[in-house]
Amino acid sequence: MKEFDVIIIGAGAAGLMAAAHATKLKKSVLLIESNKSPGRKIIISGGGRCNFTNLEVDSSFYVSKNKHFVKSALKQYTNWDFIDLVSKYDVKYHEKTLGQLFCNGTSKEILNMLLQEIGKSAQINCDERVSEVLKTEEDGSYEVKTNRDLYRAKKLIVACGGLSMPKMGASDIGYKIARQFGHKIIETNPALVSFTADEDLKKRV
Ligand SMILES: Cc1cc2nc3c(=O)[nH]c(=O)nc-3n(C[C@H](O)[C@H](O)[C@H](O)COP(=O)(O)OP(=O)(O)OC[C@H]3O[C@@H](n4cnc5c(N)ncnc54)[C@H](O)[C@@H]3O)c2cc1C
Repeated sequence: MKEFDVIIIGAGAAGLMAAAHATKLKKSVLLIESNKSPGRKIIISGGGRCNFTNLEVDSSFYVSKNKHFVKSALKQYTNWDFIDLVSKYDVKYHEKTLGQLFCNGTSKEILNMLLQEIGKSAQINCDERVSEVLKTEEDGSYEVKTNRDLYRAKKLIVACGGLSMPKMGASDIGYKIARQFGHKIIETNPALVSFTADEDLKKRV
């Protein structure tokens, strides 16, 4: 069984950011991604230009049953920290309406920036799907089973995203793991739905 300090499930925006931070702490990191390449949703985000943050970010902008939930995270890493990072990599951007910041070029610049932040110190296994997580009784570490292998780590980060767009890799594994570890799940609702109108429908609206 291969051992790491940290295993991250999902190489999307959250998983890649987590990996960048963990490698800076000199941890050995394994990212497991079911898609053939990392950050597929980043690439399609913002119509291909990634709306990577907003000039104004406040906890009141987040929809949550617990309005205090995001406060601590937003204090520890602000929109300005991310804007600094983007500027460090010389990614050119512009403001659209209501403070939204988009790349002048393509979303790939944001993905490449995150991959460079991670560097070579993390192992990214693509085309590999996590099927099960177990917490061992001997030392409280996690065993992560995939369709290819079995891994073990002291820390596990579940960054496998929500349920939208299964063809982009979305799965319910995060919810399954949360239930397994005793979390109560609030029923999910679609918040982002793609809607395509054909010519006939367009005439009617
Ligand atoms: C069309 C579209 C446009 C968007 N535009 C924007 C935008 O401009 N700005 C913005 O901020 N947000 C945008 N979003 C939302 C944004 O994509 C999400 O907020 C963001 O991707 C969430 O990142 P994440 O890392 O939490 O999840 P994801 O990006 O979904 O990453 C999770 C990863 O986990 C992997 N995974 C899932 N299950 C498993 C498993 N069992 N084993 C291994 N890997 C697994 C998935 O393949 C995926 O790569 C957009 C979304 C869509 C669909």
